[in-house]
Amino acid sequence: MPSESSIPKQRLLKFAEYLSACTPEVTLYGRCVADKAERISHNACSKEFDALIKCFKKQVKRAKHSRRVMSFYKFKYGFQPPFNVLIDGTFCQAALKNQINIQEQVTKYLIEPTVLVTTKCVLKELGKILPVENSVLKFIVEKIGRDVYGAFLICKQFKIAKCPHTPVRSAAECLSHLARRSKKSENSKYIIATQDDALLEQCRKIPGIPLMSIRFKTLILESPSEESVKETDQAAEEIEKVQAMKKEILGEPEAPKKKKKKGPKRPNPLSMKKKQKTVVGALKKDNGEKKKARRKKKRIILKNL
Ligand SMILES: [Zn+2]
Repeated sequence: MPSESSIPKQRLLKFAEYLSACTPEVTLYGRCVADKAERISHNACSKEFDALIKCFKKQVKRAKHSRRVMSFYKFKYGFQPPFNVLIDGTFCQAALKNQINIQEQVTKYLIEPTVLVTTKCVLKELGKILPVENSVLKFIVEKIGRDVYGAFLICKQFKIAKCPHTPVRSAAECLSHLARRSKKSENSKYIIATQDDALLEQCRKIPGIPLMSIRFKTLILESPSEESVKETDQAAEEIEKVQAMKKEILGEPEAPKKKKKKGPKRPNPLSMKKKQKTVVGALKKDNGEKKKARRKKKRIILKNL
């Protein structure tokens, strides 16, 4: 349990983290304030401030989403940090294109420690160079080749996850195989990070596989697929059925007896004599009021006379 003093500290750290993701907005707002420092007025930089708040809220929403999704996989499918993120070449290419630092952004987004992994099949696929004769095609392939080479360099930095493929298979086949194995395995569970739509669709059909991709220049962790939700719902229904059957066979479980509190014994309240209340003050007050009432009566009688 975190101590009370550590809670505000954690909140402050999160605050700083969200702000760090809004660097352009922070810079613009800071510049605006600095420019108008001597003659600053109310709402002078409201446009920049609104943009900063919008970005901040977006970051909070993203963090909530990621926490909610990973909690689902933690409690329903046994995922534990550090999370293994299995990355293919298409994801690295998209990250390169959108200037996303995978290591930094993925760890920030998932909030907890992560390990980035790839496979020998992915590296082999990225390492291929196609000889092309046609000059136009050659230009295109060379351009694509440059991106692929960049992705290859990024992927090479990651840890290699074991796959059983000799000879190597296509990256999509390899990742799909590891995703299926991830469902059964207790130790090697993977979050699949790819831009390959066909592979994503394939993985959505395997329950319990978190999926990550880059959309609109941002990392996105998909909400649990229909198959994942359906499977966990079924499991919950089965548990309920088993509990109902148990009730039928064994009957209602006895309610646990309440434990008596231990401590010094007090005397039996029934055997104790009630203390008589001293009402001296009250009597005095009553007497005083009665006297006042009598005086009033006398005055009224005298007036009437
Ligand atoms: Zn493989």
